[in-house]
Order: sequence, then C-alpha cells, then structure tokens
Amino acid sequence: MDKSPLAARLSGLGTTIFAEMSALAMRTGAINLGQGFPDTDGPPEIIEAAVKALRTGRNQYAPGAGVPELRRAVAEHQQRFYGMAVDPDTEVLVTTGATEAIAAALLALVDPGDEVLALEPYYDSYAAGIAMAGGTRVPVTLRAPDFRLDTDALRAAITARTKILLVNTPHNPTGAVLDDAELKAVAAVACEHDLLVITDEVYEHLTFDGVTHRPLATYDGMHDRTLTISSAGKTFSFTGWKIGWAVGPARLVRAVMTAKQFLTFTSGAPLQPAIAQALALDDSYYTGFRTTLEAKRDRLCAGLRDVGFEVFTPQGTYFVTTDIRPLGHDDGVAFCLSLPERYGVAAIPHEVFYDDKAAGRSLVRWAFCKQDDVLDEAIYRLGRLSN
Ligand code: PMP
Ligand code: GLN
Repeated sequence: MDKSPLAARLSGLGTTIFAEMSALAMRTGAINLGQGFPDTDGPPEIIEAAVKALRTGRNQYAPGAGVPELRRAVAEHQQRFYGMAVDPDTEVLVTTGATEAIAAALLALVDPGDEVLALEPYYDSYAAGIAMAGGTRVPVTLRAPDFRLDTDALRAAITARTKILLVNTPHNPTGAVLDDAELKAVAAVACEHDLLVITDEVYEHLTFDGVTHRPLATYDGMHDRTLTISSAGKTFSFTGWKIGWAVGPARLVRAVMTAKQFLTFTSGAPLQPAIAQALALDDSYYTGFRTTLEAKRDRLCAGLRDVGFEVFTPQGTYFVTTDIRPLGHDDGVAFCLSLPERYGVAAIPHEVFYDDKAAGRSLVRWAFCKQDDVLDEAIYRLGRLSN
C-alpha cells in the first residue's frame, strides 16, 4: 500500500506552490506576498447585489452556460473595451473561475499525444490541465530581464503534433504584457499552422504606464480559432467567488461546454448576477483599480530595490519578479521556504513554473495587491536581509 494511488498522468503535480506557501505563511504568521489575492474586498455594491440574489431565489442550478444577464454582460464588456462582437447565447460560457475554463478547454480540445505550446514560466494549472488531458507540454521560455517573447523560439517549437498555443497576457508571473509585434507573431504562427489558441487574459484590466492590453482574438485570422479566458476574481477583487468565463466562436465554446458539463455542470448561481452588475461598472471603477495597483506596484518595487534585489518592474498583473542573486542567494525555492520563518514574509519561487529550471532558479515573485501598510511592513522585515 506504499505506492501512491495517483494516476501516472498526474505524477509529479503534488500540492500547488500557492497552497504550500499560503500554508507556510499561516503557520509562521508571515505576511503573505505569495499567493495572488487582494487583502481588500471588491466594490460593496457588488457584494450587496450577491446578497440580494441569495435572498431572492437565485439559489438553484444556473443554466450550464451561465445566467443570461452575465453572458450578456461579458459580451457587452468585450464590445465596450475591445470592439469585439460576441453573441451572448452561443459564444460565452461561464465557468468556475478561469481555472475551470482552462482545464475544461484543455480536456475538450487536447487528445493524448497532442502538443500544447505554453509560455514559460507558466501558470501552474496549465501544466496540470495539459497532463490531465494526456497532452504534452512544450515550453517557450520568456527570459529575464525583460521577459519578451522570442518569436524564433516560438516558431522553432512547432511540430506536426502541435495543436494548441496557450498564451497568457498580461503574464503571470513575469508581469510582461505582449506587445503588438509579439501578438502579431503569435497570430501569424497560429494561422500558418492552423492551430487553436487559448488565451488567458485574467489580468486584462491590470496594465501600467499606459501599456494597453489587446486580446489576441482581435487580430486578423484569430477570431475563429481563439478561446479567450478571463475571471471576475482579478478584475473585481473577488478571488474566492470563482466566477470566470470563456469567449470564442460557437464551435469552440460548445466543445468547452461539453467538458464543463461533467466537471461542475454549472457555477455559483447567486454570484453570477452580481458579476454581471460589476462588469457594467463605469470607467472610473476600472481606471481607479488600475491606478491604485500601479501605485502599489511602485511602492513594492521601490522597497524591494532598496532591500537589494534586482527588480524587474512589471507592465501588468499584480506581481513583481526579482532576482535574489544580488543578496547572495541563488536558489529561489530554498530562499522562499526559509523566508517566512526567518523574515516573516512569504513569496513564490519562479522555478516551479519552468521546465528549464535554470532559467527560473534565482527568480522570486511578490504580490503587491495588499494594503500599503502591509507592503511597508513586509519591506521593513525584508530590510534585515541586506544587513
Ligand atoms: N490564470 C492566471 C494567469 C492566474 O494568475 C490565475 C489565478 N489567479 C488564474 C488563471 C485562475 O483564476 P481563477 O481564480 O478565476 O480560477
Ligand atoms: N493565481 C494566483 C497566483 O498566481 C493563485 C491562485 C491559486 O492559488 N491557484 O498567485
């Protein structure tokens, strides 16, 4: 009975780094700059909308594709921010967070042996989703200091087995936002090799310094082959609600729904009308959210630089990546495992998001979606590192 019962497909996946580091932070009382969740809830009127839905009979199964008002709100959001025409009845699927959309998409679209190209460092659920579908992960590495996409490497990674490009922009954990030339190159490769594209855009509203996010689906030739995934967790600071969605041509959405039906069938009925209301918030909400997070980015980046890290200022997301070598360390995993106990702060080592472990070994990610005094206290504690 000593042998693990875990199926071979899932061997090596273990506990997610986010759960591991949050548990370590709890155990040691450390400030948690590891797992990415805000320490301030989203808009109170959206919480009230959810309470109202709970009290007015929205408590039974929602339709599998999502409640009509949320599907409509997602379609209107795509039109309002990106000029995309989306049919709410056939081109939107509401999911249990972006995580389920990613898993359902991979389960629906990948056959055993198919290759899925993913930018590395990759968000951990990509590796798990590809493994659960029996596919093969093929990484295309984004490298420090600027984490740009090497389009030659992307082209070189394509084989006869490639079926899907799995893209993430704004990119977790590096904070890179793919620029127009990079997005055009991805689109060109996808069209040339007739690939499907899954694009994870959960940080679509978190870009800084005037950098803008443009969905890959809006590029020439992309609409019919692209599934765009996002989540209310990030944009409205309700990560625990787990309301996400996938948008794309009807044939792709139908395929993903086929898998989703048998994973969860349907998601968070009373939360869906509240998120519909959130998506329709006026521009000041979105601008305010971005401006607030940009100031927090600057606060944490400056503090980490003062402590002595090499800091790679992110263009988007709520994470900043640092290199720990200037402080005399080079193993990010060992560094992050000892940090909570010794310095009272938790962070995430990049290495776990790479196949090319050497590329991520000395990199560490910090979340800045925290109150200013929490960020200041973390920097104060880390200050002892340089002494
Ligand atoms: N994709 C990326 C890039 C993420 O950072 C996250 C986590 N926040 C998710 C997907 C998962 O989102 P959700 O919590 O909506 O499942
Ligand atoms: N997306 C969050 C992060 O990158 C974590 C979500 C999770 O714990 N799975 O920190």
